[in-house]
Amino acid sequence: MIRLGERICGRESFTTKALGILPAYNVYRKTYALLQQSRQWSEEELEAYQTEALSHLLDHAYENVPYYRRVFEERHLVPGDIQTPADLALLPFLTREDLQNNLPDLKARNYPETAFEYVTTGGSTGIPVGFYYEKGASRAREWAFMKTQWDRVGYRFTDRCVVLRGYIVGSARDGVFWKKTLFGRWLLMSSHHMTEETLPSYIDQIRKFRPRFIQGYPSTAVILARYMVDHGIGPFPTVKAVLCGSENLYPWQRSLLAETFGCRVFSWYGNSEQTVLAGECEKSTRYHIFPEYGIVELIGRDGLPVEGPGAMGEVVATNLTNFVCPLIRYRTMDLATAAGGACTCGRSYPLLERVEGRVQDFIVTGKGEFLSGIAMNIDTDAFDNVKQFQFYQEKIGEVVLNIVKKPTFSKQDAEYLYWEVSRSCGEDVVITIRYVDDIPLTPRGKHRYFVQDLPICFSERKGVKVEHVSSDIFT
Ligand SMILES: [Zn+2]
Repeated sequence: MIRLGERICGRESFTTKALGILPAYNVYRKTYALLQQSRQWSEEELEAYQTEALSHLLDHAYENVPYYRRVFEERHLVPGDIQTPADLALLPFLTREDLQNNLPDLKARNYPETAFEYVTTGGSTGIPVGFYYEKGASRAREWAFMKTQWDRVGYRFTDRCVVLRGYIVGSARDGVFWKKTLFGRWLLMSSHHMTEETLPSYIDQIRKFRPRFIQGYPSTAVILARYMVDHGIGPFPTVKAVLCGSENLYPWQRSLLAETFGCRVFSWYGNSEQTVLAGECEKSTRYHIFPEYGIVELIGRDGLPVEGPGAMGEVVATNLTNFVCPLIRYRTMDLATAAGGACTCGRSYPLLERVEGRVQDFIVTGKGEFLSGIAMNIDTDAFDNVKQFQFYQEKIGEVVLNIVKKPTFSKQDAEYLYWEVSRSCGEDVVITIRYVDDIPLTPRGKHRYFVQDLPICFSERKGVKVEHVSSDIFT
């Protein structure tokens, strides 16, 4: 079984690719075939697979990647000193700043220039972080993992799918806010033009299209759902599931989407850097981490692994398949909570109870504690007369709630909202409500519910460390 897995590792794909016999489709096919088998593996078999893949990665990084040769030598280590994923603690974290400052030295010297595809992320509020995919392979592998997790809700390539993911459709100036792709199977709809005036035509178009799935950013799907609820519009009967990714999915969003569309809401968690991928289980709303994709550690504020179910830590992840630009112990700046126990689905994959979101999706209280947006009670009627909202923080312990009012918003609503939000945030956060005309989308067409201008760092022993971090790290 392990031998099969090796075929998706970068080194082998490079060798085969150099011979010109491994196009992207083969990478996809082999990765998908591996995932069909590995989901049945025991915990021990998965560990053996990861150990083997890690050993390949470290040998390669030491031999061919100058940055990692330096890291090993500075610590008087050789790859053989790291025998298991737990031994990774001997190596330092790789921060976004490290990635920015050392990118040329993170390129594997044994790959030709044509193997590198430059990719950036995090351009919306911070400094873009650049890194490399393996051209023709990284994206194909990603698709195999995505398809595998969407299989859990019955997705087939032939299915019609409405896509709400921040597209700006070229025909929008002519009043057509959508376009078809993938031989007519996907209907891409602009998230930049969804207004009270245009949404009726969006809904009309979706009904005509008869999609089996709606795929998109939760914040975009929520705009559609809230409009449907407000206007008493029923669900689309053909839709089997809403596939939500690229942003954190809040519990209030999940319940709103499930009720409005009358179907399962299925979410996953990953990043553009491709260091971690975890998808919801079909039997619960917990997330199964793909161990074939990367090694995931949850690191607490003391810089050490968190212990036990229910403990929250920063996701630190090592990609096991990208050999052109290895990212080892990459600090994702995302926080997640570990889950305990086995899953009823029978997979032995590690579990996350929740993905809490980016460090910047947290409110920092006056005591320097992190308050998760997940825990906030936004699923309350206090928001009924609010069209849009966004929490904004630039001072520790102080939060501004920007809201766009609906015409029906009254003074009583303002008092109720203030009371509800203050209660949710606790006594160590001072709330100010501010009325605004509009809350702009990010350049990627996402709506942010939290904007954190406090540069924060989770893994600090004491308080909040001030350093610049970028955002927009979900793919
Ligand atoms: Zn499961």
